[in-house]
Amino acid sequence: MVRRVAVVGAGVSGLAAIKCCLEEGLEPTCFERSENVGGLWCYTDQAEEGRASIYHTVFTNSCKEMMCYPDFPFPDDHPNYMHNTRLQCYICKYAKHFDLLRHIQFKTLVTKVKKCPDFSVTGQWEVVTQRDGKEEREVFDAVMVCSGHHVYPNFPIADFPGIQKFKGCYFHSREYKEPEKFRGKKVLVIGLGNSGSDIAVELSTVASQVYLSSRSGSWVMSRVWDNGYPWDMLIITRFKTWLENILPRALSDWLYVRGMNRFFKHENFGLMPLDKTSRKEPVFNDDLPGRIACGVVVMKPNVKEFRDRSILFQDGTVQDDVDVVVFATGYRYSYPFMEDDSIIKSRENQVTLYKGILPPQLEKPTMSVIGLIQSLGPIIPTADLQCRWAIKVFQGRTDSAFTELKGKNNNIKKNLFSSIPERYGNSTTLQTDYITYMDELASAIGAKPNMLKLLLTDPRLALEVIFGPCTPYQYRLVGPGKWSGARKAILTQWDRTLR
Ligand code: FAD
Repeated sequence: MVRRVAVVGAGVSGLAAIKCCLEEGLEPTCFERSENVGGLWCYTDQAEEGRASIYHTVFTNSCKEMMCYPDFPFPDDHPNYMHNTRLQCYICKYAKHFDLLRHIQFKTLVTKVKKCPDFSVTGQWEVVTQRDGKEEREVFDAVMVCSGHHVYPNFPIADFPGIQKFKGCYFHSREYKEPEKFRGKKVLVIGLGNSGSDIAVELSTVASQVYLSSRSGSWVMSRVWDNGYPWDMLIITRFKTWLENILPRALSDWLYVRGMNRFFKHENFGLMPLDKTSRKEPVFNDDLPGRIACGVVVMKPNVKEFRDRSILFQDGTVQDDVDVVVFATGYRYSYPFMEDDSIIKSRENQVTLYKGILPPQLEKPTMSVIGLIQSLGPIIPTADLQCRWAIKVFQGRTDSAFTELKGKNNNIKKNLFSSIPERYGNSTTLQTDYITYMDELASAIGAKPNMLKLLLTDPRLALEVIFGPCTPYQYRLVGPGKWSGARKAILTQWDRTLR
């Protein structure tokens, strides 16, 4: 019987874990190394060891109706996309509203998580923590790992010949906070992800010149989509997902490329992805095309070599007098507290998890990794549903998961997320299609609304669920964890968006 659950980290995933444990009558204890909830969204002026670090001007790229906790909509007066401080306020309010804070031990670092000697029978874990230099050990029936994955920088300087000779300064984007100290400088940003493009655009307002180097290009999307509505409320719908799944691949790829090029032709801006039909996470930036058009950001291919003060690119061009290089080269997975690292991580930074949540080789499924999967959809509702699913597995209440994990069913292979399905391209993240993934988890725990039944009993709601945005409330309409406000929240979601 699982009763006591350790939750590592009190970011948005950790808070969802605490709440879902409480809903199921479990006893969560959350350990958080910092003094606050919010994780990545809790901005600090200096990057802190072992914690995610964001720059001052980070705004969300999922809109408020899509990224809220499914039973806690954002207040009406919040903008659709939020500054990190606003999101952090919301996260704090959520923790207070559901009385989650008393389950969190702040300033407490989890230093070790290891199987108890009788793990194969009990499934229990020993969790070692450190607070004010004092070490404590406790035994838990299950562990939910919510420690984030934007913490340990991927800083591949060995792949950049001559970097040791470079006389300018260079650092990882994790250290970047604000643009002022780069006034008048010539800057190269390496990496066309969300951070790389944000930083390049921001620096272009003060730097003398910004170069943005990309190995493989990327689709760049605007937050503001057709008729000014949030992109995700128009694109992430059940109807569109269904169409995408039934159309012939060639036609769906053609429509996808056409949709991505609707505001500007990526090819003309040096942004065209090498694999243009890959559904790899796009970059969200409303200003990048404008900054390129004005010449203050110049696109460059991969760096071939660093020399003294100049940089040679793959296309043979050289840029002289570069003062600063920002490596926006992403992050790698790391779980330094796992005694046996291979439980979560296998070879070379590769993570293999059943449904993107459970380490598959454990004798007892009593560990879950929350918030690691990446999709076009938002993380908060994903984490919430992952927690609800994982807890049912802990309790032995999703039969199919059990049969598969015991190896009696061939589906286990289909449900292991490690390398990425073909259409998501060659990325190191665990990527999946949002609605398909969410529906799979929801079906397994009885929380997926039955469309036919809904059409017959509540057609107005059904039409909004099928053709409208797949907002988080849909996964709290029925089944365990049902929220009585879900129907109203769905029917009023456009009102809040327009406010
Ligand atoms: P984190 O926020 O990283 O929290 C992990 C927590 O665990 C931290 O508080 C940390 O202190 C604690 N911790 C770690 N190790 C230990 C330990 N050993 N002991 C104790 N405590 C520990 N997602 C979206 O859905 N929409 C967006 O708009 C969006 N924008 C983003 C913008 C940026 C710049 C970045 C980097 C990411 C963005 N994301 C976005 C993705 C982001 O990862 C999630 O929004 C989310 O914050 C992840 O939450 P988390 O709780 O899983 O991890």
